[in-house]
Amino acid sequence: MTTSQQQGERRNRREPGERRGRRAWDRCARLAGLTAVPGQIDRFYLTPEHRAANDLTARWMKESGLHTWLDEAGNVHGSTGQRDSRRPRLLIGSHLDTVPDAGRFDGIAGVMAGIEVAGGEWAANFPFDVEVIGFGDEEGTRFGTALLGSRAVAGTWDDRWWGLEDENGISLDRAFAEFGLDPERVGDASYAAKNVVGYLEVHIEQGPSLDRARIPLGVVSSIASARRFEIEIIGEPRHSGGTPFDERHDALLGAAEAVLAVERFSIEHSVIGTVGRMEVEPGAVNVIPGRAVFSVDLRAHHDHQRDDIIEQFRELVTEVADRRGLRATMKQLHEAPAVYCADRLKEAVRAGIADVQDETPPELFSPAGHDAMAIDAITEVGMIFMRNPDGISHHPAEYVSPDDLGAGIAALAHAVQSLA
Ligand SMILES: [Zn+2]
Repeated sequence: MTTSQQQGERRNRREPGERRGRRAWDRCARLAGLTAVPGQIDRFYLTPEHRAANDLTARWMKESGLHTWLDEAGNVHGSTGQRDSRRPRLLIGSHLDTVPDAGRFDGIAGVMAGIEVAGGEWAANFPFDVEVIGFGDEEGTRFGTALLGSRAVAGTWDDRWWGLEDENGISLDRAFAEFGLDPERVGDASYAAKNVVGYLEVHIEQGPSLDRARIPLGVVSSIASARRFEIEIIGEPRHSGGTPFDERHDALLGAAEAVLAVERFSIEHSVIGTVGRMEVEPGAVNVIPGRAVFSVDLRAHHDHQRDDIIEQFRELVTEVADRRGLRATMKQLHEAPAVYCADRLKEAVRAGIADVQDETPPELFSPAGHDAMAIDAITEVGMIFMRNPDGISHHPAEYVSPDDLGAGIAALAHAVQSLA
């Protein structure tokens, strides 16, 4: 076959993807309207917006011919088989929740792509059920702990989470009850490893490498090892005018030293470290800060890199606190080991991409966490990244074009077919 014939064939195979890409893209736009704050996108776990997103997603799943249900953790499922099917299942998933003031596509595009693949004519006669899951919590915005939805499905729910509270003091178990879920039954959402043949996820790239290379799709090699902490520094709030420097115990200055150290240690150890949130009390212009609380988010290729800098950071915080007469505590909020995509699924994904794109797909490391990390506890995982111009995400400007989303859908469909 000549090159132009091959390209022509690729174009033909891409076509249903293009149609489906446009529909999935339009659905992302529809879901953007389900938000707690009009004019931006704020959709958090177990809220009325989450319920509305589940309902709409389930409706689209049904229209695509899928069986649908809501599980005991608030995740919405759509499958070519019934919930109690005894056939093995191939899972495709991503999340429907967002960060505050989010974009339209992070997570959402993967769920909509999954519906197109599971509901497509290509999904008939597979030796397994193809099941799409819209996870209710990946970002961890409401309760501070990420991946609650996918961890329920993976059977790695931790009962210590029930006491976590949102910013209004509503505990996770109460939020479950208010959503109509029974906390006692969360274990029923989990799947046994033996019934699952694999997990695939399509996601926008949350960085610029595909865009810079002018390539629509890439293969994910691994997902970052991550840990998140909350650090609280207690000093002494006193009059800013009357307290000499040598008598001050300024919590914010202690925190400032620690924040700069996060950047320094991260660069030294090739870790990605960020302080994204800080609160200072009492927060008055004429009072020395008596309390500072801040977050630390660390991501790395491998677990040991991340753990090394945590030890270094802990020592630094202790030294700063001693020197400044402060009290410091460090609380871990989240920990996830590095997850490596399975060779067999990377192969399937690569074959799927080769079917719709001329360029050889690059292998990309994902510094951002994904539901695939949690599902890795029960089955092998594979991921496709879609080009995101400028690489921006967790921001209203995040984007994937309908064409690239269509390419992602077609590649995922071919990947699933090659596994079948
Ligand atoms: Zn995401």
